[in-house]
Amino acid sequence: MADSRASALASLPSVDRLLRMPQSDVLIAVYGRAAVTEAIRAVLEDLRAAHARIPQDVAAAVVGRASERLQAAARPSLRPVFNLTGTVLHTNLGRAPLPEEAIDALRDAAREATNLEYDLESGRRGERDDHVERLLCALTGAQAATVVNNNAAAVLLVLNTLAQRKEVPVSRGELIEIGGSFRLPDIMRRAGCRLREVGTTNRTHLADFAEAIGAKTGLVLKAHASNYAIEGFTAAVPERELAALCQARGVPFVVDLGSGALVDLRRFGLPPEATPAQAIAEGADLVTFSGDKLLGGPQAGIIVGRADRVAQLRRNPLKRALRVDKLTLAALEAVLRLYQDPDRLVSRLPVLRRLARPVAEIRALAERLRPRLAAWLPPGVGVSVVDCESEIGSGAAPRQRLASAGLALRPGSNRLAAAFRALPIPVIGRLQDGAFILDLRGLEPADEARFAAQLERA
Ligand SMILES: *Cc1c(COP(=O)(O)O)cnc(C)c1O
Repeated sequence: MADSRASALASLPSVDRLLRMPQSDVLIAVYGRAAVTEAIRAVLEDLRAAHARIPQDVAAAVVGRASERLQAAARPSLRPVFNLTGTVLHTNLGRAPLPEEAIDALRDAAREATNLEYDLESGRRGERDDHVERLLCALTGAQAATVVNNNAAAVLLVLNTLAQRKEVPVSRGELIEIGGSFRLPDIMRRAGCRLREVGTTNRTHLADFAEAIGAKTGLVLKAHASNYAIEGFTAAVPERELAALCQARGVPFVVDLGSGALVDLRRFGLPPEATPAQAIAEGADLVTFSGDKLLGGPQAGIIVGRADRVAQLRRNPLKRALRVDKLTLAALEAVLRLYQDPDRLVSRLPVLRRLARPVAEIRALAERLRPRLAAWLPPGVGVSVVDCESEIGSGAAPRQRLASAGLALRPGSNRLAAAFRALPIPVIGRLQDGAFILDLRGLEPADEARFAAQLERA
């Protein structure tokens, strides 16, 4: 045994010989000579390592394995996946899918020079916010608007600009943590503000704020309770009253909405979510919200409100550090334009389309896919159509569930979940009550064929 292995090792073809094989030419054309040489070397190395079995047709086998290595290495790290978790706005899965109009806009902006900060009429320097400010003002009733990298950045910029070295009274019921990395008290400290807790966790009254506001107050912040709800014996101060109090005392009133839907979601049969337009109408000086939550656009933090306050934000050097790039602005502008035609919004904006899908349509899709999935599954795993519940995600309407349908694979296991993640377009579901559930709200009719085809190939 040892002798035959030694002679097999001795007869391993050289790197040069392997590179001259016709199969290697094909690889070199795709990946380049350097990468193919490197891959062949690595495979030979593995074979020489102790215990590796030397295959029969060794030259072809080595090039074949090198090809597999090269393919795996060439696959991008950031890849599309099917989000069948039932959480439509899933932060770990990149939140909002963009509409085609936004994808076209960002492709155009990426390819060429753009008038990002250039005024085409005067030929002078322009302001990057100009591309979306009018649209945002029209949609929210605000006087001015500015955009930064995400909503956490928006809150940071507002706090630092208006309340550095000052106090910020916040209701104890709103000292929130979102997704583990956004804690209001931490952001406050980094912004250079002193948090002043007001009221109690479940009840805060106008008088509590009246007492807390003083000469040291930089602004009053109301944070939207995104990912939780306090129930029972509760009291919060209505925005209109708090806004009036702040105005009387001469301190800015800021509302962090988080998700902030730009339109009334009840129109689409969805649970209501506070809108920036409401907050502005109720007297907020500034309102912050995300671009990639219910708005359905790219990651961004949007700040709308009084023109003098927005001008102050733009003068803060932090605005420069937190600014968005041309791709974000291109996508955001295209998404905001869709809102100009609310009647067609639900068919054109993927987030709303997915949230508003009729459960009968989702169930029919589950019925169609069930037999195709059954054919693919290993023996002993069954698949059935089930009713399930989706959620909006990213902190919007946390207690509301949307009736949905999907496929339940039993017995569900980590191995089964891993097999779905290993598909060319990874499929992400959830393990629940002993089953692996694929909530089909996240699979749009346009993707049905692609989803089924990859199962048949696998
Ligand atoms: C989501 C959220 C944030 C953070 O927004 P990002 O866009 O994720 O940075 C801040 N405040 C509230 C209330 C939120 O819901």
